[in-house]
Amino acid sequence: MKKREREPVIPRTAQETTRHALMALLLEGPMSAKEISAAVSLPEKEVASHLEHIRRSLQATGALLEVEPAECRSCGFVFAKRERMTSPGKCPLCREEAISDPLFCIRGVEGQEAD
Ligand SMILES: [Zn+2]
Repeated sequence: MKKREREPVIPRTAQETTRHALMALLLEGPMSAKEISAAVSLPEKEVASHLEHIRRSLQATGALLEVEPAECRSCGFVFAKRERMTSPGKCPLCREEAISDPLFCIRGVEGQEAD
């Protein structure tokens, strides 16, 4: 008698559960940390640290955490080199605080691990 059923992937820790949920959201399309935070009921700061981790762990799979950079709604300045996952507070050029949130999504996953 052989077991042919596939074992469900059970996350070992709560953190893994959260990351799994985050990755599912990111596969759906671009989302800001704020939107993700609302969707998974986590503070934005925690979402940001999960995103950092996801970005690193994705490198091994060939997928990519794509970041659409934040942009100043007033003068159009793009925060392209910003490495942090949270939104910038103020535009360095015009000092406006009307900054669009950076958006995140996952690209390049080859059909596997897609829940
Ligand atoms: Zn500006």
